[in-house]
Amino acid sequence: MPFDLPAMARRARNVRRKTITIRDIIPPQMLARDLASTAYAPIVAVWEDATPRIMDAYSLSLTQMTMDSPADVQREIEAAEGEASPLYLLLDARLRDWTLRVERWFRGKWRGAILSATGVDLGTLIGPEGVRASLETHLAWNADLVRDVSAQARQRISAAVFDGLRARTPAREVAAKIREATGLARDRSVRIASDQLTKLTSSLADERRREAGIADWEWKHSGKRHPRVDHKARDGKEYSDAKPPPEMPGQLPYCGCRQLAVLKFD
Ligand SMILES: [Zn+2]
Repeated sequence: MPFDLPAMARRARNVRRKTITIRDIIPPQMLARDLASTAYAPIVAVWEDATPRIMDAYSLSLTQMTMDSPADVQREIEAAEGEASPLYLLLDARLRDWTLRVERWFRGKWRGAILSATGVDLGTLIGPEGVRASLETHLAWNADLVRDVSAQARQRISAAVFDGLRARTPAREVAAKIREATGLARDRSVRIASDQLTKLTSSLADERRREAGIADWEWKHSGKRHPRVDHKARDGKEYSDAKPPPEMPGQLPYCGCRQLAVLKFD
């Protein structure tokens, strides 16, 4: 339920300042690491574990070069896919736990920041139901990305072995390509997890601010290396729901910028 925090703040304290900027809420990278390790790493591990079996089938195919030998390689790749399928149920449940945990974490930080800035305790006013739709969206997004990490790994591994069979590439070289494919999947998982943490927390920041009846906010640059020049230029600038920037902080890929809610009293 939306409420009017500026009016509540005015009642709680005799506010003399014209504006109050709510402090920055920085998502800890520990949450991103948890996402990568609990929901993404197991799917990469399926492909890593399958690598020796795929390579055995590959070596056999190379020496025999019979008509049906590529079928053995194909069968091992499909077997790995078959192991991934039932895993998604578990991973989706972990994604849900993680999403709820981030929501709880953010809500606690938001409550604390509002309390120290205004003296108003939002404790009983805000709950997870206020951001339910956003949680479901991010949950579905992550579930899709986990499957995509697996699909991309499979595609790279297939390309390595079938190209290898065609060109009679030594097994050692093909094994190195598969290791590269699973390594890329692992690296991508880490990047996705970090980006998803930013995306979820920036959505939460936006929704909590609007729910509290605050229309104004300040752009806070992430301080990341290799920043977007226009994002760095927006650091400290004020925006409002009526006058938004071309995109919201944290929305573009790997953008770590945030918004700070600004209460205005007239
Ligand atoms: Zn940015």
